Amino acid sequence: MEKRQFIKVNPADNVGIVIIPEGIKAGTKLSDSVTAVEHVPHGHKVALKDFSKNEEIIRYGEVIGYAREDIPKGSWISEDKVQLPEPPHLEELPIATKVPDPLPPLEGYTFLGYRNSDGTVGTKNLLGIMTSVQCVEGVVNIAVERIKRELLPKYPNVDGVVPINHHYGCGVAIDAPEAKVPKRILKNLATHPNFGGELLLVGLGCEKLVPEKYFPDVKKENTVILQSELGFELMVDSIVSKARQCLERLDKRVREVCPVSDLVVGVQCGGSDAFSGITANPAVGYAADLLVRAGATVLFSEVTEVRDGVHHLTARAINQEVGQKLIDEMAWYDNYLELGGVDRDANPTPGNKAGGLANVVEKSLGSIAKSGSSAIVDVLSPGEKVRKKGLIFAATPASDFVCGTCQLASGITLQVFTTGRGTPYGLSMVPVIKVASNSELTKKWKNLIDVDAGKIATGDATIEDVGWEIFRLILEIASGNKKAWADYWRIENALCLFNPAPIT
Ligand code: CA
Repeated sequence: MEKRQFIKVNPADNVGIVIIPEGIKAGTKLSDSVTAVEHVPHGHKVALKDFSKNEEIIRYGEVIGYAREDIPKGSWISEDKVQLPEPPHLEELPIATKVPDPLPPLEGYTFLGYRNSDGTVGTKNLLGIMTSVQCVEGVVNIAVERIKRELLPKYPNVDGVVPINHHYGCGVAIDAPEAKVPKRILKNLATHPNFGGELLLVGLGCEKLVPEKYFPDVKKENTVILQSELGFELMVDSIVSKARQCLERLDKRVREVCPVSDLVVGVQCGGSDAFSGITANPAVGYAADLLVRAGATVLFSEVTEVRDGVHHLTARAINQEVGQKLIDEMAWYDNYLELGGVDRDANPTPGNKAGGLANVVEKSLGSIAKSGSSAIVDVLSPGEKVRKKGLIFAATPASDFVCGTCQLASGITLQVFTTGRGTPYGLSMVPVIKVASNSELTKKWKNLIDVDAGKIATGDATIEDVGWEIFRLILEIASGNKKAWADYWRIENALCLFNPAPIT
């Protein structure tokens, strides 16, 4: 097979991205109609048509800038030849101006999930143990060790025990306006679909985050208050004994055939590289479209990663209201950063530019590519529960575990995570499918990476091929037929709660 020299991410693109490490030499035939007229470096753009001055340069199917001069076909479109579009001001964004038509329905796909009485469907069967304040964490951890050792082997239908420890609950300004964020995240984590309505809550007894007030959905009989117990051993016994009752009930849960529309999938990136926006993110975007076509819910997030491409998102908002909600979330975050005395990392880094990213729009679009091409039907504040099916923007920080925790609170039952540099990231509450942007990482970490999107760059697969591979793997893993590597190794990171409110 002849080695591919460049790829087009979207059929509408009028530039190609050079994928061979040594770059393209002048005189290289790129297609029947295009021959390189000069050297074009790796990761950079080559003109696939003759551009006249001010003509639109299209990548990811979107305008990333305008030609500053006439650019002949086969030229290197270096950063200095691209006129940056006007930066998006939040006051004058296009709303619902480019709402994509609904994609054709995709039928005939199912998965095996745990259906809950509230209508949600889980992908794992877990005993969740929530703390209402960090004072109880040490005792809970000792109890969890005992539960895992003594009880869990007796309940083969239960996949694991997940402690939800956090540094909230007391010594915090619990009535501050932004305290609604951590309170909402914790409340919604407690009713996550993978806990089957049987979450165990451990409180202290004098904390500000009063269990019965802030966790109204947790069963009274599933609550342990340490100040009501007589000494250390009885505290642990009490947690273990309640855990046994929860496990009895959880062990009776069985998987049943569910339509794909019962899935709630989050997408995220971390440790990205120059190939993330060319391989892994567009492939995940293709899988996101397949999920939406099958009626599922897909959440994409990371405000700071999408901020500079937000005008493309507001244009895709299904209506005025959703577009405005998106703008409000951006404005909230701009203000949050400003209060902290920082600005978003607006301009691409020198490394980004050397890697071929001409400007901030191009950088953001690489991240937005994870969202696929469907209309945005809803916008969630950090940790709000999903209320619609389809593609949703869930506003979260881009920080990996903070984003992951917010998406879990929103109700994702599986996450797809793209990475270029590599991270052993995992969320024990839901399976995480890790997609590598380059094949070197896949080779280096063959027992941590689930999907190699690098084969798109080498020409061994298309974006569509890898998109389908991710979609099928989502169904396998959601069904429990297969384990993502992070689950295989039982990699357990602590969750990370987003708290924009003061600590007292
Ligand atoms: Ca991230």
